[in-house]
Amino acid sequence: MFLRVVVIGAGPVGIRLAEELLPLVAAGRVAVTVVGAEAADPYNRVLIGEYAVGDAAAAEELTLVTAEALPGVELRLSTRAERIDRETRHVVLSDGSTVAYDRLVLATGARPIVPELDGLHERGPDATGLDVRLTSGVCVLRDLSDAEQVRAVVQRGGRVVVLGAGVLGIELALLLAGAGAHPAVAHFGPIPMPRQLDRGSASVLSSTLAGAGVVLVPHTRAEGVIAREDDTGERRFRALVSADAKRIEGDLLVLSCGVRARTELAEDAGLRIGRGVLVDHALRSWTDPSIHAIGDCAHVADPAIHRHEKHVPGGPNGLVGPGWRQASWLAKSIGAELDGAEIAPFDEERPGVVVLKGERVDLASAGDVSADPFAPVPAGEDAPGIALWADPEHGTYVKMATREGVLTGFVAVGMPRTAAELSVLYLRGGELPADRSLLLRLEDADEALPASGREGTLCICNAVTIGQVEDAIADGCRSVAEVGGCTRAGTGCGGCRARIAELVEAHAGAPA
Ligand SMILES: Cc1cc2nc3c(=O)[nH]c(=O)nc-3n(C[C@H](O)[C@H](O)[C@H](O)COP(=O)(O)OP(=O)(O)OC[C@H]3O[C@@H](n4cnc5c(N)ncnc54)[C@H](O)[C@@H]3O)c2cc1C
Repeated sequence: MFLRVVVIGAGPVGIRLAEELLPLVAAGRVAVTVVGAEAADPYNRVLIGEYAVGDAAAAEELTLVTAEALPGVELRLSTRAERIDRETRHVVLSDGSTVAYDRLVLATGARPIVPELDGLHERGPDATGLDVRLTSGVCVLRDLSDAEQVRAVVQRGGRVVVLGAGVLGIELALLLAGAGAHPAVAHFGPIPMPRQLDRGSASVLSSTLAGAGVVLVPHTRAEGVIAREDDTGERRFRALVSADAKRIEGDLLVLSCGVRARTELAEDAGLRIGRGVLVDHALRSWTDPSIHAIGDCAHVADPAIHRHEKHVPGGPNGLVGPGWRQASWLAKSIGAELDGAEIAPFDEERPGVVVLKGERVDLASAGDVSADPFAPVPAGEDAPGIALWADPEHGTYVKMATREGVLTGFVAVGMPRTAAELSVLYLRGGELPADRSLLLRLEDADEALPASGREGTLCICNAVTIGQVEDAIADGCRSVAEVGGCTRAGTGCGGCRARIAELVEAHAGAPA
């Protein structure tokens, strides 16, 4: 048996699939074509913020692969897939050619949501032909061309207005502040990161952000943009205007208002769409078993349970790690199919721990932390299991939510060791010690980390455990890069690199 596999999208997830299929390509058992609309060599989108503010390390590590690293794979960059013909199993490409498939994999990712704002105009298609360019001085942050716009303003030390205080908006603001670009973050509600934080943790984060040079502008219902004519006569962003007439001036407006799966190609082909392309636990389209979807464009749900529901629960995870695991699973499943075998269904991941990346901020959050520990408990109901510690003066805060002793949610600000331990317990569904204050004492560097042990996850993006990193060090890895080369740990968002360096130093005695 021989399969022609066509992957649409050369983002981190589509490329991981191609990499995982390489042994089958080398064995002549599959032919793989990857079609990508962007012109650049496939890159790690997770690092695009760092790249945008001129971080030299990010620029070096940005590229994931070049064509030479994918021997036997046909990599068609600067090429858009325009239509899927399911009858004849062909994809029509923007250069007029077609490519035939036995298995089609949609890895088309997601696009940022552009809110409707008075005065915001579209200036025609961007270089990929998939998106539009907005009023000059207004952009989203998703691809390299967006990053170049941010970069130009950062280099001039300009002011950047970020609309949206979700994780990505706050991370960008921290990066901008670090690079001297005077960010102001306008957001709708009273607190930043409302999905991850309660009022207490948000208040501690807000002070930390202020200390880092990030100005938060809460209660801002953005209504429009004011533009001015620049030297070339082009309309260029000048200020964001809110419903209550606030005017937030800047040289660039970055819209950070969430993302939505790119599904138009699938939709036009008649595939069922939920919050992404609906796929089952074999990552196969609900509508057409020869089509798969993985990564930010895929919505995994069981058709046997949800087929007749109008709104299918769940949706794309929006993180690179789950997408990479889908890519690996799909490559294994294709290999098994060629051998006439089957593998266990893809195990969907529940939402994991969100870690805010930022040099001056340590913040991790998971699950529901909204419960108020002091709210009156209605008769007959159990009080929520909440333990709380706050020291706003020193920028620290921890809240732990439990059900029958098991951790169901937490947020930790300014307490990295406690956060690491809580992350392990949360992912494992572990119980907290009866004396919760034991966890706070972990901040004392002399205190050993108990539960995380060898099986604790160190690199969330690549699901690499502490034990695997220790083994790599024992096998001779002497730097963060070498550990990454052996295990992939630290090659996703990079948030775990400091811990890998600590382990290299501790176990190998070498400065990492
Ligand atoms: C600033 C920023 C910071 C982030 N930080 C983190 C983080 O710290 N941790 C984390 O886990 N995740 C993070 N993410 C999210 C992460 O980048 C995504 O989860 C990941 O990129 C998803 O990969 P993907 O390949 O599924 O989709 P994408 O990266 O969106 O790639 C899809 C590709 O498909 C191409 N494409 C789409 N349609 C077509 C078509 N019709 N024809 C040809 N090509 C097409 C697109 O041009 C694109 O190149 C971040 C994202 C951003 C923007």
